[in-house]
Amino acid sequence: MFGLLALAAITFHADFEGGSLGKTDTIGPTHFRLHMLGEVDQDKRNRQASWYYFRIDGARGQDLTLDLVDLPGEYNYRPNRGAIVAETRPFFSADDKTWTTLETTSYDAAEPHLRLKIRPTADRIWIAHTPPYTTRHLNHLLASLKGNPHVTRQAVGRTVGGRDIPLLTITERGQVGSKKVIWILFRQHAWESGSSWAGEGAIRFLTSSDPAAVRIRQQAVFKIFPMCDPDGVIRGGVRFNANGYDLNRNWDLVDPKKMPEIAAQRQAILDWVDRGGRADMLLTLHNDEGPEYIGGPPGEEHRPLLERFARLIEASPVFQQNRKAALAETSTTAGKPGRMSFPQGMYHDRKLAAFLIELRCFPHPELGREPNIPDRLRFGRDLVQAMASAVQQ
Ligand SMILES: [Zn+2]
Repeated sequence: MFGLLALAAITFHADFEGGSLGKTDTIGPTHFRLHMLGEVDQDKRNRQASWYYFRIDGARGQDLTLDLVDLPGEYNYRPNRGAIVAETRPFFSADDKTWTTLETTSYDAAEPHLRLKIRPTADRIWIAHTPPYTTRHLNHLLASLKGNPHVTRQAVGRTVGGRDIPLLTITERGQVGSKKVIWILFRQHAWESGSSWAGEGAIRFLTSSDPAAVRIRQQAVFKIFPMCDPDGVIRGGVRFNANGYDLNRNWDLVDPKKMPEIAAQRQAILDWVDRGGRADMLLTLHNDEGPEYIGGPPGEEHRPLLERFARLIEASPVFQQNRKAALAETSTTAGKPGRMSFPQGMYHDRKLAAFLIELRCFPHPELGREPNIPDRLRFGRDLVQAMASAVQQ
């Protein structure tokens, strides 16, 4: 037998949990233009193309050129060149578990597009904007906590797609009284997988037998929404729920039909507070492209907590603010309903001390590279320790 071995067809796939890829144009045998799907809000505005996650089959040993296109969009109604830029180098994986930065990328600001050069070493490889974290990961984590006496789980409501919205309560049982109570929201925005990896780090630490974790559980109760937008995460979405509503805006609207996720999370917090429960500090964790900072609640009375917390979390080797920690504006509605974030909404409703943190995806000055999964896990642990200390003082 002799003859030419037919090269296997190179194919692209995103038909799995969290996957996202638009159409693919074939430019040459190993050169493709990959369109980003992007998503728009309920008014077809604020297009964001900040998430892709796909698999390439049949390209082992071939030198691929992949141009990511359809990047431009809008943020807060202002047009931009998109969230995929020179500094957001993709991650690739040969097993869909271990992720490495793809260093061979170049950005063309003119179109704009991000060009990836890669020679797959396996028949299947995965490429993503940041290391993915889907409900599969969360379910695995929650299954590992079965029987752990320090954590209880409930559903506070259902998403547009009918999925449970989980809330975890973590504390040392059998002690009541004057414990501080800390609320954290992870993954309000579906593309921000770094938030979930940090959430996993936080939850793993808080439920562990580490003496520092035991001490924290004796002094505090953590109420954690580990995944605020399960629909979006499964869909491979960006920052809007299934009806197009941005889950870190709209906290002044909380329409239970259009945005049941916000309505359920808000109600869980307000019911707790209105029944006399504490809410010493609240926080929503995000990741962004370049910015890394703390946004405080709008009220001046919360400035001492902001400053204490900033001092504590800045000690983390995987966090370095490039924007000064500041109290938020009371409102960004500017006459337009539906623009209130979680910290603004919580302050508006009950004057609560709700914070926001953005983690960067760009190369990190202290790490000298893009933050990866172990860095995010580490940050989650540092975050809950800093919060627990900040509320004790
Ligand atoms: Zn966000």
